[in-house]
Amino acid sequence: MTSLLVTNIGELVSWDDERPVIGNAAVVIEYGHVAWIGDRTAAPDADAVRDVGGVAVVPGFVDSHTHLVFAGDRAAEFEARMAGRPYEAGGIRTTVSATRAATDEQLAANVARHVSAMRAQGTTTVEIKSGYGLTVRDEARSLAIARQATEETTFLGAHVVPDGTDQAAYVDLVTGPMLEACAPHARWIDVFCEEGAFGVDEARTVLQAGVAAGLQPRVHANQLGPGPGVRLAAEVGAASADHCTYLDDADVAALSDSGVVAGLLPGVEFSTRSPYPDARRLIDSGVTVALATDCNPGSSYTSSMPFCIAVAVREMGMTPLEALWSATRGGAFALRRDDVGHLSVGAKADLVVLDAPTHVHLAYRPGVPLAVPLTR
Ligand SMILES: [Zn+2]
Repeated sequence: MTSLLVTNIGELVSWDDERPVIGNAAVVIEYGHVAWIGDRTAAPDADAVRDVGGVAVVPGFVDSHTHLVFAGDRAAEFEARMAGRPYEAGGIRTTVSATRAATDEQLAANVARHVSAMRAQGTTTVEIKSGYGLTVRDEARSLAIARQATEETTFLGAHVVPDGTDQAAYVDLVTGPMLEACAPHARWIDVFCEEGAFGVDEARTVLQAGVAAGLQPRVHANQLGPGPGVRLAAEVGAASADHCTYLDDADVAALSDSGVVAGLLPGVEFSTRSPYPDARRLIDSGVTVALATDCNPGSSYTSSMPFCIAVAVREMGMTPLEALWSATRGGAFALRRDDVGHLSVGAKADLVVLDAPTHVHLAYRPGVPLAVPLTR
């Protein structure tokens, strides 16, 4: 069978330029790509037919920011935080110890388990960062393991300075031997530009070294307080500046002028009981917004894009349609991908079937497992 007609779609969200949302629709899939979309009654013949019974179909979620290569968990830290202790970046070091002690097989099994859980909730494209190894060997193997699960791999040696290491010497290591060992396994270079992690000059050095090695930049910026991360992202032409929780007007202008995507990660604010980023302000200022899980054992241990959509709608001023756009098309922009995050003709046929009549139910029924990729 070479073509499949998916029909009786109550609501098709395709993000097609002409008709982004179509009622009573159908899709034809050929060779793994979308070959036709439109009104059900106008659908062409195909080798096989699937009737989805009037439910909604949306593009698979694009989770543009995760840290899946790790071992252990930090449930005790979460429990303490919920009892009133603030989040500090240094908690990362706990996961670094556990990750270094794990075998390749254990790390790969953890990644596979999380990717499988994501897929079961509608995520069809995922970015995965290193950053819990912080040695040449452990960063390189983290990325090699991530590469088994996705092409969207990000070298984040500059996540935090490991214990007992001089900050300047560590930046030299990250931009020297570590980058050399990691670049073959990575598409992206990232840095945690934040008080307690890396300053703006160090972060610029890391990103420029990555670019020189053929990687494309993205930045962890303005998570824990105001800072220069977002403007650095604009300066270096990063694909995205992620977190964007504490922004002044100049930061917002820098994002909208540069076209850098603001990657919002509401699982972090949820799990650290922190103020949410203001998505409404960003969208109204013309900034492209992506939503992602930031799945990691410290500050956001969720792999659920529908959860992030629900929180973004409830807490961040997004409409259900905007949140879905940011979780699909916005994520694809954050990864500079044109083949995923939408269902226009030519896109990958990453259809997600909702057990619901419209996309609104993703936010309206939080925690309910509604989104499942179409199996072919
Ligand atoms: Zn992150």
